[in-house]
Amino acid sequence: MPDLGRIYWTRQGLRLAYTAVMVWLAVAVVSALSSKPAPAVGAGPSSTAGVLRGLFEGVVAAVAVPGVALVVLGIAAAVVTGRDVRRRDPVRRFTRQQRREGMARAGGLCELEAGFGRRCGRPAEHGDHFFPWSKGGSTSLQNFVAACARCNRAKRANIPSPGQQRRMERRRREYLPPSASVSVGERQPLA
Ligand SMILES: [Zn+2]
Repeated sequence: MPDLGRIYWTRQGLRLAYTAVMVWLAVAVVSALSSKPAPAVGAGPSSTAGVLRGLFEGVVAAVAVPGVALVVLGIAAAVVTGRDVRRRDPVRRFTRQQRREGMARAGGLCELEAGFGRRCGRPAEHGDHFFPWSKGGSTSLQNFVAACARCNRAKRANIPSPGQQRRMERRRREYLPPSASVSVGERQPLA
């Protein structure tokens, strides 16, 4: 799948932006609370209620802009998730035939990465969607990778990075026959 880089980096960007906005919000709240509040209009500067109201208004003013940014990011995330759901393959489980072919292709060993780009190579127990099913990955032989229980658990529903894809295709050249396709990953079209 040639667009994996775009998909992966868009989501990393969204995640980074979310973290940045959360830090921005926290800093805005802390600095609003620690600055000397101007007393709210109509209240005496010495009254507790007036000080509290001033503090509250200060915080509200400080979080307004990062709050709007957070809402915009939330909408973007909802759109992305909604499109993932629309892409989902109606068939989630690999067929017996796909499992047999996929496992034979991998020699019955886990194809996932075990640090420094090496192949894990433990006995495979699961057929795994390389591009996660929940994010629109196809239930096809093209998207099938043999995985051991540990790698399968560790992978969860994470979208693989373009580097992980490249390294798996490089490893596959070593154990697949020269005539076989090494390419991995497939995503469903938007329904
Ligand atoms: Zn493994």
